[in-house]
Amino acid sequence: MKTVWVLGDQLNRRIGALAEAAPSTHRVLFVESRAKLASKAWHIQRAHFVITSMRRFADELRAEGFDVDYRFADSLADGHRQHVDEYAPTEVDATEPLSWAGRALMHRLGCSMVRSNQFLCHYDDFAAWMKTRKSFKMEDFYRWQRQRLGYLMDGDDPVGGQWNYDADNREPPPKDGSSPWPAPLLDELDDLDREVIADISAHCHGEAPAGVWATSRTAALRRLDHFVNDVLPMFGPHEDAMTTRSWHLAHSLLSPYLNIGLLLPGEVCDAVQRAFDAGRVPVASAEGFIRQVIGWREYVWGLYWAWMPEYAGVNELDASEPLPPVFTGRADTKMNCLAHALGDVNARAYAHHIQRLMVIGNLSLIAGIDPRALTDWMWANFVDGAEWVMVPNVMGMSQFADGGRMATKPYASGGAYIDRMSDYCKGCAYDRTKRVGDDACPFTTLYWDFMARHETRFGRNPRVAQQVRAAFKLKDLDEVRERAAEVKVMLREGRL
Ligand code: FAD
Ligand code: SF4
Repeated sequence: MKTVWVLGDQLNRRIGALAEAAPSTHRVLFVESRAKLASKAWHIQRAHFVITSMRRFADELRAEGFDVDYRFADSLADGHRQHVDEYAPTEVDATEPLSWAGRALMHRLGCSMVRSNQFLCHYDDFAAWMKTRKSFKMEDFYRWQRQRLGYLMDGDDPVGGQWNYDADNREPPPKDGSSPWPAPLLDELDDLDREVIADISAHCHGEAPAGVWATSRTAALRRLDHFVNDVLPMFGPHEDAMTTRSWHLAHSLLSPYLNIGLLLPGEVCDAVQRAFDAGRVPVASAEGFIRQVIGWREYVWGLYWAWMPEYAGVNELDASEPLPPVFTGRADTKMNCLAHALGDVNARAYAHHIQRLMVIGNLSLIAGIDPRALTDWMWANFVDGAEWVMVPNVMGMSQFADGGRMATKPYASGGAYIDRMSDYCKGCAYDRTKRVGDDACPFTTLYWDFMARHETRFGRNPRVAQQVRAAFKLKDLDEVRERAAEVKVMLREGRL
């Protein structure tokens, strides 16, 4: 009998090796690794989400008739060895893992690898696409995907005549104080949830699971239906907005399921296409969402494989400040925007894209936080974290640690941007218009310091040179630099 080894981010009957398996020919192996649990300071909702989903999926395969060996072991390699010793399978099949280290391990252990179908563009196809061009812009990749996959196409042209409706999707939160976005679905916790929580609590931090994140395919499919029917028509306009009134706005909250296989990208996009065809969703919303999934998501996946393993260690801006204690819950902050973003992470192991990029990421960038430490922290604290998605998004897009291979400009901003796109600044102890003084907004101070500090790198970058010049025109630049040094110390000491 053969074995199919299923990893914790491959939890779907239709994925790779498992799609080809049957109870009469294959036993299924899962390894729950103690080393993995001990490897990071995990947010409990992140660890609970993955482990419960694994155990539930194992039960579903048992119910289908599979003999499942669900093994608790010190490491993945140990679990594999114990399984082979006990069952002597004729072969251990595995779907290509989603991480560089996972793939190397599978090769080392002699597993037979089945091509992964968890993404719509395999990394070999992405590499071939890269070979055909000099620059690798996301927008070009996205259009190539649209044409190839046929989403929102009218023959060779995009439906509605436009490839991209992004310009319509930059509204701040509604000024009337409303919060029109439907509440996310919740599930009651069951005995399995409670068993997992009891098993992992001692290793984890953060607020306990409360049913926000589904841990089965059936419940994930309910989340997809809810998103497409009730939320998608509102997706888009407030994609870049942040508000104290809602932690989710019209974001889909589907990334965790896509990232561990409970949902597949093709079925998610098919559901969106159907809703669009039925006239239930405006083109800008459908296009905005499809772009995220077949564009951004698959683009960072392809870049990860194209640029690893060096990519995981890049630090072109020589950023070396330690991770601030406010990130790890060892300090509070008076910065309203940061308090909200980190409060959301603590409450649900989730912050939406703009909080990740323009609050947590932006602050880390302009304060010069070590990008690898930030990546590791996010990886452990976000329910949808994984190396393949974190390295390009955090090291590349948000921290510019790759020197601009992924993003052509650094995502740095002062308090003015955050004020424009959120309602955070009104209730804040700091003044977003000030760059010096005790109540100066730390974003504003650090932003100008960042531009001046990186003059050599950005002075000739056409997308940022103007800001660099503006920094040197500030009459109080010396004071700004002094205040920035103070702010960094306060951040390091948890006093900001
Ligand atoms: P929506 O706003 O509803 O977007 C729809 C879907 O598009 C998401 O579910 C996701 O699958 C996909 N998507 C959109 N943008 C990206 C992107 N840049 N990269 C990959 N997928 C994308 N995404 C993760 O899945 N895991 C992470 O650990 C992660 N870390 C991030 C860290 C930083 C600093 C930044 C800037 C972005 C990160 N992202 C990550 C991308 C993006 O922020 C999340 O995918 C998104 O916020 C998830 O919430 P959602 O499902 O509600 O997204
Ligand atoms: Fe954030 Fe500055 Fe606005 Fe306060 S004033 S919420 S620190 S951007």
